Amino acid sequence: MLLFTPGPTPVPQNVRNAMSDETMHHRTPEFEAIFEKTRKHLFNLFKTDEVIMIASSGTGAMEAAVINLCKNTLLSVNSGKFGERFGKIATAHGLKNVEIKNEWNTPVSVEAVVEAVKNNSDIDAIAVQVSESAGGLRHPVEELAQAVKEINPKIMIIADGITAVGVEPIDVSNIDSLIAGSQKALMLPPGMAILGLSNAAIETIGSGVGYYLNLASEIKKQRQNTTAYTAATTLTIGLLEVLATIEADGGIEKLYSDTATRANAVGSALSAIGLHIYPATPAKSMTTIDDEDAAEIRKLLKTDFDVNVAGGQDHLKGKIFRINQMGLISNYEMAWVVNAVELSLAKLGRRPYDGTANRIFNEITFGMGK
Ligand SMILES: *Cc1c(COP(=O)(O)O)cnc(C)c1O
Repeated sequence: MLLFTPGPTPVPQNVRNAMSDETMHHRTPEFEAIFEKTRKHLFNLFKTDEVIMIASSGTGAMEAAVINLCKNTLLSVNSGKFGERFGKIATAHGLKNVEIKNEWNTPVSVEAVVEAVKNNSDIDAIAVQVSESAGGLRHPVEELAQAVKEINPKIMIIADGITAVGVEPIDVSNIDSLIAGSQKALMLPPGMAILGLSNAAIETIGSGVGYYLNLASEIKKQRQNTTAYTAATTLTIGLLEVLATIEADGGIEKLYSDTATRANAVGSALSAIGLHIYPATPAKSMTTIDDEDAAEIRKLLKTDFDVNVAGGQDHLKGKIFRINQMGLISNYEMAWVVNAVELSLAKLGRRPYDGTANRIFNEITFGMGK
């Protein structure tokens, strides 16, 4: 079965091998050396002033960023389940929350954010997804961050890049915290989250908030290549292997360019067979299709063609399906996926099979022209 859900994503064989050794003790020079190398790679990936690894799923990093960077009112951008989660985190910690809510195919407008900030001087942090995985859309995070900093540079910008870091270049000039999670673009099992931080964020954090998720404790320790509590040692070893593999495969810029080509090829192939792309501004992390037969297509993909793609949640359950594009994906696997979607449409009697999806995919991927 091909795993093509936008998280978890498949773990490459060499990464699984790297993680198969005996458990290492975290307070040893051997592990600290691995930690130091991993950190170096992460600085290259995040391009932020500081980088922190924590043992938690992605949501732990979202919570860490909110409690350490927001003291008063969080403006959260809700165009899906993950944006909604930021608001819930704020409320759970007694912070005030202002939300800009849109349908799951609609990115936030920079003007709406600017207006909210101008109308509420209590807002001291903004939380937004770079790629909102619920509907597969890209928010204009960099533009939004720049516009907000022009109004008030003290407002902290928290960007959830869980399905964006390692997928596409993100301009962090105006971003204070950029979040990633192990089981999405980073091709690892779940259990580790990473926060990139700006110097301004570090200043705002001061002595930190909370206990396990107190970022001040982690910054202090991780600068010495160790962690405040037990490190996710095996995942750290895996992460180093992932980042070294990306490097050996031509580097991060090549992965960004391959992913962009793949996203374009898949989107074009599926559009060519009459399917509709759900988000107004598709993220490169996944292709999301809305279709009245979404549930049937997804079932056929699994039972007849050995492809596992994700469905939708909440009000989009049975209405969309989402195909992963994150990570080091083989073209032959991706070609099979678009072909399998076309075969499913034929099985449903929607359209006779003629190989269009595969042809378009190959033309774009391999530059074959018309
Ligand atoms: C998966 C995901 C999360 C949540 O991560 P968990 O690891 O499930 O806690 C948050 N934001 C986005 C955009 C995601 O895709």
